[in-house]
Amino acid sequence: MPTPPSPANDLQDTSGAEKRRSQRLLVRVAVIVIGTDREGKSFGEVTHTMVINAHGALVELKAELLDGQRVLLRNKQSGERQSCRVVWFRKAEQGVNHAGLEFTAAAPHFWQVDFPPDDWDMPMMRAAVLKEFGHPLGAEEIPRPQAQGDEVLIRVEACGVCHSDLHMAKGDWPDVSAKMSWPVTLGHEAVGRVVELGAKVTGIALNQRVGVGWLYSTCGACEHCREGAENVCLQRKVTGIAAPGGYAEFMRVKASHAIPVPENLSALEAAPLFCAGLTVFHALHNAGLKKGQRVAVFGVGGLGHLALQIARLAGAETIAVDVSEAKLVFATKFGAAQAILATDPNSEKLLKEGGGPHLAVVTAPDKSAYDLAIRTLRRRGTLAVVGLPKEDLTFFADDLVVGEFKIIASAVGTRAEMRELLALASAGKIRCEVETCTLEQINEVFEKMKRGQLLGRAVIQFPPK
Ligand SMILES: [Zn+2]
Ligand SMILES: [Zn+2]
Repeated sequence: MPTPPSPANDLQDTSGAEKRRSQRLLVRVAVIVIGTDREGKSFGEVTHTMVINAHGALVELKAELLDGQRVLLRNKQSGERQSCRVVWFRKAEQGVNHAGLEFTAAAPHFWQVDFPPDDWDMPMMRAAVLKEFGHPLGAEEIPRPQAQGDEVLIRVEACGVCHSDLHMAKGDWPDVSAKMSWPVTLGHEAVGRVVELGAKVTGIALNQRVGVGWLYSTCGACEHCREGAENVCLQRKVTGIAAPGGYAEFMRVKASHAIPVPENLSALEAAPLFCAGLTVFHALHNAGLKKGQRVAVFGVGGLGHLALQIARLAGAETIAVDVSEAKLVFATKFGAAQAILATDPNSEKLLKEGGGPHLAVVTAPDKSAYDLAIRTLRRRGTLAVVGLPKEDLTFFADDLVVGEFKIIASAVGTRAEMRELLALASAGKIRCEVETCTLEQINEVFEKMKRGQLLGRAVIQFPPK
């Protein structure tokens, strides 16, 4: 007699050999199974227990299913349908049978299982999927999602590769790791065209080009949302964690958080603005940068070269600091008035010229960049924390007090700031240097990122269909 799978086991595995090492969100719901079994006999409505997460369900049922069989899950409340495949079926000699169903659902409640017509073809898509921390992403075919309720489905044209994705794929951030639903589709710099509208969507049209960033959704009601700081919303949900991200041909996006992209910007140009661009735009805004001030940008990668351009646009005097000479040459093409090699023995002296920077924006994920920034900051200057080193940042209280330094941090940005940034890019005032890659090349891009070999932003380009 087969061993009934336990809810903790993976859907694709009943022996335990491929157990997920991660924590996963499991919700117990009742499922109504309606349809006929494989012999065509109707089994009417039977309530069964079902363990469900964002990527599938483990079902106990009396009906007999077939491995690979296609079924429809129907939401009893909204009537929306979800593609679904029977990944495995185990018939019990006594009692209930078990099946693993593969599907994606944002709000998994009150689903019923229907059997589709014989000629129904389950729509699939390509996606780069993370199945285990620290392992390469696998490009594979997975069921194509459908827009539900207040969501739109976009056909992704381009998705930027953010350093945060690398951290999340490695499981570097325990708080974030705990919220992931497996398998994970990362990517929070996606731009694409709307191909499907959920039943409750208004104000957005089919074929409209939109983008989505880190914020998958915000509550609109907490004190931070009410005060215009939705980027730190207490209920915020993050793209790629709470819902599958843009390393896929299609993705579901909340219509409220899908931001129209001007038609004169290509998807490739626009995608990196949704995290890299917005993060530094918000940091400079948050720091209260004034015309004529000196701004030092530490780390000239995807974020850094955008920060230099935004600071210059604000009338600041810009200084680029990096450990790579190639990146400094690159920085001078993108708005740096001065470029300083961090390893140069004179770097500290050069940075302190004219009293030092009013603002130091550290985008490098490197503690030594922060150390250099604080040593060279102008009195009453501001340090903006953007890059995320693994180590703690440590400063002597004395140093902070003597200089009366301010330290601020930047957590991406708001939708209003995103619209302002897109308008600047659309007017040709900001340009992101892009290195394109395919979905299949994502692991190579991660390797280049680890070695600091990317100039500008890597962006996955999806072939037009
Ligand atoms: Zn990001
Ligand atoms: Zn909120």
